[in-house]
Amino acid sequence: MKKCRQCFGDIFPENEVTVNGMEDMCYSCYKARKPNICIDFDGVLAQYSGWKGPDCLGDPMPGALDFVKRLKERFNVIILSTRNEECIKVWCDDHGFTEYIAYITDHKLPATVYVDDRAVQFSGNFTQTLVEVENFKPYWKEYWYEGVKK
Ligand SMILES: [Zn+2]
Repeated sequence: MKKCRQCFGDIFPENEVTVNGMEDMCYSCYKARKPNICIDFDGVLAQYSGWKGPDCLGDPMPGALDFVKRLKERFNVIILSTRNEECIKVWCDDHGFTEYIAYITDHKLPATVYVDDRAVQFSGNFTQTLVEVENFKPYWKEYWYEGVKK
């Protein structure tokens, strides 16, 4: 029998959650939980200046731990990253983040808000978004791509 990761109760077909990545929670816990916030790892929680390998995780961004503590008061804090979950888990343990993080996943889970250093907010206007995409560059990157300064 599957157990709910929050209340440790049995998950019957009647109280199953079918949302991708949330299957290990019963429906009552799922409904009662705080709203989700998905936080990107590289460049948001961890310092980042470009991919250097799967085992190369940056130190925490200054203020990242306080940021996550504050968020946890109102949200279910989820780390959303394409990185290996185990590597991020170890990083969270090493840097004191573990108790504030509800979940680490590479699925885009439903969330109230996403925090990402590589996102453009879509406002409903494609023309404006095309301009923003064209001019986009993450804050940690001096050049848009090799050799082209924007
Ligand atoms: Zn439960």
